[in-house]
Amino acid sequence: MTEHAVVIAGGGPTGLMLAGELALAGVDVAIIERRTSQELPGSRAGGLHSRTIEVFDQRGIADRFLSEGQKAQVAGFAGTPLDISDFPTRHPYGLGLWQNHIERILAGWVGELPVTIYRGLDVTGFAQNDRGVDVELSDGTTLRAGYLAGCDGGRSVVRRAAGIEFPGWDATTSSLIAQVEMTQEPELGIRRDARGTHALGKVEYEIHDGEVVYQKGGLVGVMLTEERVGATAEPTLDDLRERLIAVYGTDYGLHSPIWISRFTDATRQAAAYRKGRVLLAGDAAHVHSPVGGQGLNTGVQDAVNLGWKLAQVVHRTAPESLLDTYHAERHPVAARVLRDTMAQVALMRIDDRIEVLRDTVSELLSMDEPRKRFAARMSGLDIHYDLGEGHPLLGRRMPDLDLDTADGALRVFTLLHDARPLLINLGEPGAFDITPWEDRVQVMDAKYDGEWELPALGAVAAPTAVLIRPDGYVAWVGDQTEEGLADALTTWFGPPAAA
Ligand SMILES: Cc1cc2nc3c(=O)[nH]c(=O)nc-3n(C[C@H](O)[C@H](O)[C@H](O)COP(=O)(O)OP(=O)(O)OC[C@H]3O[C@@H](n4cnc5c(N)ncnc54)[C@H](O)[C@@H]3O)c2cc1C
Repeated sequence: MTEHAVVIAGGGPTGLMLAGELALAGVDVAIIERRTSQELPGSRAGGLHSRTIEVFDQRGIADRFLSEGQKAQVAGFAGTPLDISDFPTRHPYGLGLWQNHIERILAGWVGELPVTIYRGLDVTGFAQNDRGVDVELSDGTTLRAGYLAGCDGGRSVVRRAAGIEFPGWDATTSSLIAQVEMTQEPELGIRRDARGTHALGKVEYEIHDGEVVYQKGGLVGVMLTEERVGATAEPTLDDLRERLIAVYGTDYGLHSPIWISRFTDATRQAAAYRKGRVLLAGDAAHVHSPVGGQGLNTGVQDAVNLGWKLAQVVHRTAPESLLDTYHAERHPVAARVLRDTMAQVALMRIDDRIEVLRDTVSELLSMDEPRKRFAARMSGLDIHYDLGEGHPLLGRRMPDLDLDTADGALRVFTLLHDARPLLINLGEPGAFDITPWEDRVQVMDAKYDGEWELPALGAVAAPTAVLIRPDGYVAWVGDQTEEGLADALTTWFGPPAAA
């Protein structure tokens, strides 16, 4: 039987990112993907938020995305734009880039790493015991894995087969989404009426000064709120035509659909992200309305949280209990995303009183403090893992500082490209001896004279040392002392090697 240390069900954005992280950490990883190629019919996610761009920057691949997309202020809450251009990050913006391009670029990166991809196959089930997981495939064969990661989307077979509950809220709205050709030029932009929110836009566009500028002709992206929730049949061109006429009074001569689908605001989250040797990430672990553009971003960041932990457990440098920190850290992040999307859907409901409430919220969000807080939240820059009391940096993203080192000027994110833990000593050179972890943790003496500033929080006291996890979050902060460092190293990177 073919064996891999980790098998990932699903090669969408989450599965690809996880595979990349595991391969970087030297883990034998394979993806099982239903699609025969990375081609994605339709558009789905329209871009990346700032923290996801940072996460790609931590691996040295941000430029691949930035060179193809449109930088723009994309963060918002229930239609109120939230500007992050004054945020202390190298990427104080989001990126307009369709999901098919995001996946192609991610797959290109994964293709440069030792990752096996089995295409045109479904994971149909699995059986696990304390030694591994037998992953059943649609061609009747079985793969043996140490661990199975379900990155197989909202209808996850892995989640169901694991018997993990998916509690939440049923849909209250349903929308048709499609890409079609039209013989007439449609009314572009967003329309809100008694039937709901609808939008027509060109698939090819550019962003100039924060404004979307469409090309003439070409494919039209259509989004139409349906009359009723709960349709089960696949939507057709006739459904789309009927709804277009109901909303716009014309079908604009639509024809030749590339893709027609449906999305809802069903909101659910897996009760557990781990069951033994089986883990869930991305849409397999959480689904919600696309409003706010959080899904892909959350999935990619799930993968970056899980990858290095799973790699250490596979390599047996850390105990299996490290995997429980994945649920502990990422479940609350997605739970908040779910709440935020529910609030936004509620605020966008068509009702005069809700309209007034939305205006009120919008007014509040235009004030500086609320704007900063919500902008940090929607862009993912404020994520805080609860690692206990201490310096404000603890459990937060490490800023991408320009360090002065013996090797010259270096950015912190450059030092994270290999996805290895990093101890930066900003005090007396050579002050730290972490020999028992030297096989796992890089140590860098550096100087940094600038300000330490965190999004939404503002300036924080300069530490004399920081221990940074491979996902870019701060695991320990030093202030003239080594107190707690050995514990943090043991917690996150395993017990000290025997002398
Ligand atoms: C209209 C719309 C707009 C959106 N806009 C945004 C946005 O602006 N920003 C944002 O961040 N998110 C957005 N999203 C959400 C985003 O598309 C998803 O969150 C994202 O695709 C999740 O990635 P994933 O890899 O977890 O799951 P998926 O993308 O669903 O990938 C799952 C993969 O698993 C494969 N698969 C499924 N079952 C099996 C199986 N049994 N065996 C093998 N392979 C399997 C599938 O073929 C697929 O490739 C939007 C979604 C929609 C519908």
